[in-house]
Amino acid sequence: KTIRKAGWNLDNSYAELPELFYSRLQPTSVRSPRLVLFNHSLAEALGLNGQALQNAEGAAIFAGNHLPEAAFPIAQAYAGHQFGHFTMLGDGRAILLGEQITPGGGRFDIQLKGAGRTPYSRGGDGRAALGPMLREYIISEAMHALGIPTTRSLAVVTTGETILRETDLPGAILTRVAASHLRVGTFQYAANRGTREGLRTLADYTLQRHFSDAADDEDNRYLLLLREVIRRQAALIAKWQLVGFIHGVMNTDNMALSGETIDYGPCAFMDVYNPGTVFSSIDVQGRYAYGNQPHIGAWNMARFAETLLPLLHDEQKEAIRLAENEIANFHELFEQQWLSGMRAKLGLFNEEEQDHSLVDDLLRLMEQHQADYTNTFLALTFDNREGHGLFDSSEFIRWHERWQERCGRQHESLDSSQELMRNSNPALIARNHRVEEALEAAVQRDDLSVLQRLLAALANPFKHSPEQAEYCQPPAPSSRPYRTFC
Ligand code: AMP
Ligand code: MG
Ligand code: MG
Repeated sequence: KTIRKAGWNLDNSYAELPELFYSRLQPTSVRSPRLVLFNHSLAEALGLNGQALQNAEGAAIFAGNHLPEAAFPIAQAYAGHQFGHFTMLGDGRAILLGEQITPGGGRFDIQLKGAGRTPYSRGGDGRAALGPMLREYIISEAMHALGIPTTRSLAVVTTGETILRETDLPGAILTRVAASHLRVGTFQYAANRGTREGLRTLADYTLQRHFSDAADDEDNRYLLLLREVIRRQAALIAKWQLVGFIHGVMNTDNMALSGETIDYGPCAFMDVYNPGTVFSSIDVQGRYAYGNQPHIGAWNMARFAETLLPLLHDEQKEAIRLAENEIANFHELFEQQWLSGMRAKLGLFNEEEQDHSLVDDLLRLMEQHQADYTNTFLALTFDNREGHGLFDSSEFIRWHERWQERCGRQHESLDSSQELMRNSNPALIARNHRVEEALEAAVQRDDLSVLQRLLAALANPFKHSPEQAEYCQPPAPSSRPYRTFC
């Protein structure tokens, strides 16, 4: 009865796919669930009643100990290229409870991450540690507030159990909310393990779930699927680049077909501008460096296209030609999105041919002078050019004159130009040192206040208020580079 009051309205459309695509199983119960984070505004948007969930019953649900009404728990099967190598995978520690149908008719996966072993766990324990789950919560919610498509975080519970990593760590489960968990890797799995019919069923399902507006008026619906996925992915990665977000593990299994950012493991925001920036401890080759993300996006789209070939055309040669046509568009689509975003960051409304080099020259100067990416754009926005050597360099001063002249060649007023910049240049990103500080307080000292304050600030990243100012500070110079772990 309490459960119904909580507003659960689960459907299970994914489970209607052939059984090849998932395994039915129960989450493994945990010893003593405790709710440590709960996302009220997200709960409300989902049609859930926060009051009815912020208690022991809610904790039991978000821990996988109790199932909400109409849940049909499954682990999804998928494959993927991990750092370029193809592997069969699947949810090794995540369990999908179902799809919450919102009051507005939306459909969102409700998934427990860290809910126990599954048939796809291989050597893993199926569990997650508190630190990384809190980290996913912080960064995914920060991305959402920045206006970047992303999975979201509804809750974090601690399990009362310890898990063994390099040391004993407190166990936790994150409730992840996603438009879906369909990935490039889901299609790779279908192409590898399934039949052509299975692949077609998956493609039809994906079209219906994410591209139903576009799906009708096109003779080749699978070509349309490829085109739309490419379009969304190019737009997404452009948004990452514009805020300095580094995903860190852009394996094909971590690329969602919905166009949402998914899988917050070793991701982090860049402080000093440098296209070679890599945070992930395991990315020794820099495959997923900041500057490589658009290329990896295109590479992953080519892997997606390969899976669709049997559906694109009966003749393989023609199928390949069609697919190559679409993949060839990725870079241009990316460039368009990126450049229009950069124009907005520089307060430009109209387009001029030299805009690209205006941006490139600024970025090059930022790199040379090791300037903070976010704060350089803020300094331009508020015409507050002090505190960094970049601004005193003669090259920058010349660049600034060029930019001012460029601004003069548009009809819009200076005021509207500044407003555009304020809305396009976040004051706040989830800076690594602030995230670490919040995690340390939460995990080491059981003090969530630091994290709560950070979350509140990150919820309004375009607000420029004195209370927010402390979060704008770049980290103190350090001899050790920042490292993230999966
Ligand atoms: P990721 O690098 O996060 O995309 O994960 C790659 C694969 O490893 C996915 O299939 C995960 O489900 C699986 N995995 C990660 N951690 C664990 C774990 N602790 N237990 C079982 N499987 C895991
Ligand atoms: Mg993953
Ligand atoms: Mg992960």
